[in-house]
Amino acid sequence: MGSICIFIVEDEPSIAQTVQFALEAEGFSTEHFQTGAGCLAALERASPSLVLLDVGLADGSGFEFFRRIRQLTEAPVIYLTARGDEIDRVVGLEMGADDYIVKPFSLRELVARVRAVLRRADSATVSGAGTPALLKVAGTTDLFRIDTVRRQIHYHAQLLDLTLHEYRLLETLLSYPERVFTRSQLLERGWDEPDHRLERTIDSHIKSLRNKLREIDPDSNPICTHRGMGYSLMPGS
Ligand code: CA
Repeated sequence: MGSICIFIVEDEPSIAQTVQFALEAEGFSTEHFQTGAGCLAALERASPSLVLLDVGLADGSGFEFFRRIRQLTEAPVIYLTARGDEIDRVVGLEMGADDYIVKPFSLRELVARVRAVLRRADSATVSGAGTPALLKVAGTTDLFRIDTVRRQIHYHAQLLDLTLHEYRLLETLLSYPERVFTRSQLLERGWDEPDHRLERTIDSHIKSLRNKLREIDPDSNPICTHRGMGYSLMPGS
């Protein structure tokens, strides 16, 4: 991971420092820019693997900078947005950013998103060359394989027939095995317009997902329920 460089464009020093610290602790190298202009200048000489881009920068809007960043690099971009930027978030994604994270965010969440986006970017490249991008989940060989481009997941080498929501739920759980996701987090990841009054619908989608997994392997139950917390994926269960 040492060769993976992440640009952080963030004008609040305390946020920038904690993000930098967290990513470096995970083995990424980072470069911090306080302004969009600083980042653009650096892109003339370096090509990062990913850019974390604050939406509200002192020298302009992140959306504005996004367009100019795209002219200089194909690296995926994740927006860092303040709570309440609902409309901005939608506009941002329509403009082609790869993901967004709402402040305040947990560092684990940030690292998980960064890894997921890097993996997607990587698989897009590989698939472009004609080979499906496959992710093997740690702990077991070939238990799950994800093709993020075709949005397909194989379990024990068999293709799962999933709805879009089931696919997104399982992809989220697989993105961070053993991590417990709350219903609210799963809703955020799996639905384009998450309605938090419907958090319980997660339970029925999980139930249907489990049935599909059980049809292939009746003896294991890789999706674990954590009472009062949420769900996680335990490949060995
Ligand atoms: Ca800011």
